[in-house]
Amino acid sequence: MGQARILDGKALAQTIRTEVAEGVRQIEAQGNRPPGLAAVLVGDDPASRTYVTMKGKACREAGFHSVQVEMPEDTSQEELLDKVRGLNADPSIHGILVQLPLPAHIDEMTVVRGILPEKDVDGLHPVNAGNLVIGLPGFVPCTPLGVRELLMRSGIETAGRFTVVLGRSNLVGKPLALLLARKGKGGDATVCLCHSRTSDLASICRQADILIAAIGRAHFVKGDMVKPGASVIDVGINRIDDPSAKRGYRLVGDVDYAAAEKVAGAITPVPGGVGPLTIAMLLRNTLESALAAAGQHSAVTPKG
Ligand code: NAP
Repeated sequence: MGQARILDGKALAQTIRTEVAEGVRQIEAQGNRPPGLAAVLVGDDPASRTYVTMKGKACREAGFHSVQVEMPEDTSQEELLDKVRGLNADPSIHGILVQLPLPAHIDEMTVVRGILPEKDVDGLHPVNAGNLVIGLPGFVPCTPLGVRELLMRSGIETAGRFTVVLGRSNLVGKPLALLLARKGKGGDATVCLCHSRTSDLASICRQADILIAAIGRAHFVKGDMVKPGASVIDVGINRIDDPSAKRGYRLVGDVDYAAAEKVAGAITPVPGGVGPLTIAMLLRNTLESALAAAGQHSAVTPKG
């Protein structure tokens, strides 16, 4: 029997999506356009297609104007940039996401730079990344935002807590470390950012009041790497073979859940933890963008 409180990301994501839908009703009641999100898919990677389809469905459920742009695998970089420029200029679109990864012949950062920072709801444009570093308002990537939201709404204090983030990607680990170290609510953590070259990782993890794993290694964090009572947030999504599962595989996190839940004070499951929050925060970022376009917000989240 585990002891840890299970942090239900699925339920929280539903709450946030309901809040966003209410925000859409309000913005429309005031005579403004609904938030519009364009998702651009290049090629036919099945996982990317699934993500884009899920995002489109979530948009429509929240009352957004949702556009899905599909381009063939052999689309040139210039053709993709042209499409992005068109979306930048379209007043019905407040958020643009180009589903990554892109085919190898296209430079991802060139395309990300082509998106207007005001419409970069994935928070990947260097202007938004820079704003996060400096503490200026701007879009923050959705998964880190979701982790912070989960901590805040679960009543897990971050101020002064020793927080270990495993993984330093531009999409998750790095922005998450910056977000949690920011001044103010949901921040003020003492953050240690770890990666594949970190020495004595297990002993660093054991000191963490809040331990966040985002490395993409199934069951990497063992029970003896968790400090008793710690909050454990598992961002990882890994496929492992399971002949008894319907698809022949199942999804597990970066944390050995069965072992960690016996030691932790609170823990996120996989699936049903951080994953659903990513889409919820994408919707919220797009709503913020629509509000900003309607002149109702001076700037988008977060301030700090
Ligand atoms: P990524 O770009 O592959 O980065 C992985 C990071 O983990 C790198 O910084 C790497 O270190 C570090 N790492 C790898 N092996 C390690 C080890 N043995 N010890 C310590 N650090 C190690 O991955 P990502 O995009 O950040 O994604 C991480 C995980 O989160 C994946 O499972 C992904 O599927 C999942 N994810 C989930 C969501 C969601 O919505 N829940 C969203 C995005 C990603 P180096 O920098 O030294 O190579």
